[in-house]
Amino acid sequence: MESVRCWFNKLKSKDKLKSSKKKEAAGNAKEGSKPPAGEEVPSNVTKQRVEAAKQYIENHYKKQMKSLQERKERRDILEKKLADAEVSEEEHNNLLKYFEKKETEYMRLQRHKMGADDFEPLTMIGKGAFGEVRICREKATGHVYAMKKLKKSEMLRRGQVEHVKAERNLLAEVDSNCIVKLYCSFQDEEYLYLIMEYLPGGDMMTLLMRKDTLTEDEARFYVGETVLAIESIHKHNYIHRDIKPDNLLLDRNGHMKLSDFGLCKPLDCSNLQEKDFSTANNLSGALLSDGRPAAPQRTQQEQLQHWQRNRRMLAYSTVGTPDYIAPEVLLKKGYGMECDWFVLCQ
Ligand code: ADP
Ligand code: MG
Repeated sequence: MESVRCWFNKLKSKDKLKSSKKKEAAGNAKEGSKPPAGEEVPSNVTKQRVEAAKQYIENHYKKQMKSLQERKERRDILEKKLADAEVSEEEHNNLLKYFEKKETEYMRLQRHKMGADDFEPLTMIGKGAFGEVRICREKATGHVYAMKKLKKSEMLRRGQVEHVKAERNLLAEVDSNCIVKLYCSFQDEEYLYLIMEYLPGGDMMTLLMRKDTLTEDEARFYVGETVLAIESIHKHNYIHRDIKPDNLLLDRNGHMKLSDFGLCKPLDCSNLQEKDFSTANNLSGALLSDGRPAAPQRTQQEQLQHWQRNRRMLAYSTVGTPDYIAPEVLLKKGYGMECDWFVLCQ
């Protein structure tokens, strides 16, 4: 961690240097002289890259701190259990040594970069426009997973890059028993891969076709689990936008999990772009001199209300599966998380 701090300090001092250079340059400009040679304003692409690198580094160290904290918690629990169990000192030390060995092995495993070669592809279980879903077996452990493989060129051609990013981010971010678990994701030249838990029970669509009508108890059970699943992603500020029986899968114990986040949309304020706000801001009618909507000065309370209002107006694109699309999505006047509840009420 010390080295990270050093690194950040170096960056900071570089920033200071840069900003003083900038001030100097601004001063020169005022005086009518040209900026010094070699002083270039970074392009938007460079700014985006810097932002992405910053995000990556922050996430990396956040994750590292979290795993250290979890490791410490696990050790505390073990020590407490050992104290309660009144084991001999020798046994106590042996168990702690064993625990540390296992933790080191676990960290080594986590550092290992996974790739398609680590998995043996088995039966195909789904095929879509962008790729396929296959059952696969991890060679090292023999564990079975579902591998979703997406063709990069297809995603680019159809403008689906943001969708697949949102799908991966949601799966990585939301840790809930009601949604399909993501174990890892990686890529090669041609494809993106999502390695998920394999749910062998089939989907709700097949179950509904087989059973035709569910009993009241069954219906209550599945509706209850769907409510929990939808709530778990809304809590993380995502809308699914493609809730339907085909995307509700059953695990080996008959519990239902939500899957297929290819159309999900993050509603996180920090992810918002100006265009996401444009309609809401235009309502106020205020425009900047360059034609962009002005952001009015607001109190904290007003800002919160404004954000909540905008949050409700964020999604505009008409996406989903025709049979299940909520009316407000078709109206193209903006919609919020409520659209996910529409299918359940149908
Ligand atoms: P698409 O965008 O093509 O609909 P999905 O993620 O819904 O992609 O996957 C397509 C099909 O693959 C699903 O309908 C389901 O039958 C199967 N499938 C996807 N993920 C899993 C999984 N984790 N376990 C079992 N089957 C899955
Ligand atoms: Mg699907």
